[in-house]
Amino acid sequence: MTKTWKYTGPIFDAHTHIGNKEDIDALVQIGNSLGISTQIGIVHTKEGFEAARRHHPERFVFAKYLSLENIAQYNVQPVIDEISNLKEEGYSLAKTWFGPRWRDYYESVTGEFRIDDIRLDPVFQALEDADVPIIIHVADPDTYFASHYKDSKKYGVKEDHLIQLENVLERHPRVKFQIPHFGAQPEIHRLSNLSRWMDAFPNIYLDTASSRWMARELSKDVEKARDFMIRYQDRVLFGTDVSSTENSRINYNRRVNAQRILWDTDAKNTPLPFTDPDTKDSGGTFINGLDLPLGVLRKLYWENANRFYRT
Ligand SMILES: [Zn+2]
Repeated sequence: MTKTWKYTGPIFDAHTHIGNKEDIDALVQIGNSLGISTQIGIVHTKEGFEAARRHHPERFVFAKYLSLENIAQYNVQPVIDEISNLKEEGYSLAKTWFGPRWRDYYESVTGEFRIDDIRLDPVFQALEDADVPIIIHVADPDTYFASHYKDSKKYGVKEDHLIQLENVLERHPRVKFQIPHFGAQPEIHRLSNLSRWMDAFPNIYLDTASSRWMARELSKDVEKARDFMIRYQDRVLFGTDVSSTENSRINYNRRVNAQRILWDTDAKNTPLPFTDPDTKDSGGTFINGLDLPLGVLRKLYWENANRFYRT
């Protein structure tokens, strides 16, 4: 059965990951079947990048992963060089990831590391000078802090991660920020803080990556979530966080469908079309649709990202 959604135009997926070159065609094919015609590809391998450029020259807007190893040590010069060369290499934007778990992957990150450390200022200045937007991931779902990140000495507390990012935003009003995962604040009790950010920093955009996180949290208060989406309709970009690996891309349709139920429909208590590990032992995740107006959907799925990255 093919479902006809309220919005039927092309989709710009503003948050995908591309890895091995063998996987790129399959990712594009599945995307096509879901109406996705353009996507941000966060690059994880050089071969994948080259294959994507060669075989799908019009499709991708490429994001370069900045060296977290250097950032962790406040070793800014190589990072500044990456930023200044990035457009020449075929990238359009930069990506960084400061999920609290990055401490598990990079030995050089100490408990004292802060993204608002003044020593990192030249990195943000370089983004401004080169007019390079950045996807900056900070914090994670509340559910992770309640489970994986109980060791707050090691991982910090969510409020502090958000304050660090806010300090960065305050100091760099001319950098274009795409803050993924709804600014890590789709939880209903965080929407007022997120609104405050949106009002204070006109240079920030949000993406909706992580279908289960968005569906799980925004469904909890349809009215508040809908008001937010309508109020900031020009600055939210649709994204899935799908990666080209087989494991991830086989769920592309389910992840897109979850968001389509959330944004396009007035469905009530519809089960998330895949398992949400965060709720599997507590009854599961259910979607309540926001039934957004068509004009808002058009901006979310296409116009906002197209304006931000293509013009
Ligand atoms: Zn991602």
